[in-house]
Amino acid sequence: MTETVNPFTTSDEHEAFRRSIREFIERETSREMDRRLDETGEFPYELAKKMADAGFYGVPFPEAYGGQGGSALEFAILCDELAYGSEAAAACFLMPVFFAGEMILLNGSEEQRREFLPEIISGSIRGCFALTEPDAGSDAAAITTNATLDGDEWVLNGQKTLISGVDIADYIMCVTRTGPREPKPYSNMTIFMVDRRAAGITINRIEKVGSRAVGLFEIFFDDVRVPRGMVIGGEEAVGNGWGQMWMSLDMERIMVATLYTAIARKAFDDALEHAKQREQFGQPIGHFQAIQHQLANMKIHVDAAEMMAYRAAWLKDQGLACSMEGAEAKTFATEVALKVCLDGMQVLGGWGYTMEYDMQRYARAAMLGPIGMGTNHIQKTIIAKLLGLF
Ligand SMILES: Cc1cc2nc3c(=O)[nH]c(=O)nc-3n(C[C@H](O)[C@H](O)[C@H](O)COP(=O)(O)OP(=O)(O)OC[C@H]3O[C@@H](n4cnc5c(N)ncnc54)[C@H](O)[C@@H]3O)c2cc1C
Repeated sequence: MTETVNPFTTSDEHEAFRRSIREFIERETSREMDRRLDETGEFPYELAKKMADAGFYGVPFPEAYGGQGGSALEFAILCDELAYGSEAAAACFLMPVFFAGEMILLNGSEEQRREFLPEIISGSIRGCFALTEPDAGSDAAAITTNATLDGDEWVLNGQKTLISGVDIADYIMCVTRTGPREPKPYSNMTIFMVDRRAAGITINRIEKVGSRAVGLFEIFFDDVRVPRGMVIGGEEAVGNGWGQMWMSLDMERIMVATLYTAIARKAFDDALEHAKQREQFGQPIGHFQAIQHQLANMKIHVDAAEMMAYRAAWLKDQGLACSMEGAEAKTFATEVALKVCLDGMQVLGGWGYTMEYDMQRYARAAMLGPIGMGTNHIQKTIIAKLLGLF
């Protein structure tokens, strides 16, 4: 692995933490495992259990709930090392653990935190997050899945689509409408923690291009009954769903930025290795200036993406605003990852386009970056707003 001095994580503790993750990855994962899971679309349950036992799931959560109370920088190191080391390991942690846990940590009632966070950290339950609908993607406030109160239960009806990890989730964090879009388009949105096995839920798999170990689904809610206590944040949080979703955006962007930087670095490292080994015209292709410049350019971009991602995490740890820096890092890292993977394919020549090498797998994973978790168009709109342009 090519190493860059990362001025944000030079302490002995940070180094030791990095080493412990690498040792785990080396011991418990392999390229072959990642390839197999990508091919079969299976979730690595055994690896998920080992990761929970090793304590990785607790890193971003406070000790009071069984976590390790890690900093944003430690969280960034974890995402970085997992994603560099193994696509499967990253898949185990990010969606079913971090997303679900972060939603409960930031928005749940104290009772919900005490009940569910220890279970998420120990790996005994998993969650998924369902916001997107057929007619509400970037315009998230346009959702129409609705919930109405009937006695001691809410009754959910509607459809979600493009939702990750529903089949492996015990709970769906489902964003609904519990009243009119007034006075604001995002008024009266409420998030429920819905038992995935509840009567009236149907899920269908949607085949996707990459990162296949965590599947993609559409979900139909047909008179699904949810106890009143399962509103995220409790009764008083009914109608506050929009604000709750905004709470977790900083960490989400730090996560995505480190994740895609790691994909880019992995692609770069494979390309560098190939350029040193592959000979044409009697010499390694890395002797040709065209390849040298392409690799130099890839390295510049990967390092810059890494600095931006860790800067956002560092700001977060200082208690400083990092919404702008997080949006910048997410946008840059995801664009870099895709470009570096495509450049990597060029360096590998014909083999880059085959299933024999991993570059295509990285590229397929990287393609999601600019689209998922708030498209890069939307990130740029957020940056423009923070710049006071509208
Ligand atoms: C693999 C995968 C996993 C996903 N997992 C989840 C999940 O777990 N939970 C979940 O809720 N959702 C999930 N999504 C959905 C994802 O969040 C949406 O795809 C994304 O928000 C974009 O919405 P859309 O696909 O409807 O695109 P649209 O909103 O229709 O956008 C299409 C294009 O128009 C652009 N656009 C739209 N509005 C504007 C604007 N105002 N200004 C400029 N450009 C604009 C977009 O940037 C995009 O390029 C997932 C998607 C994928 C592909």
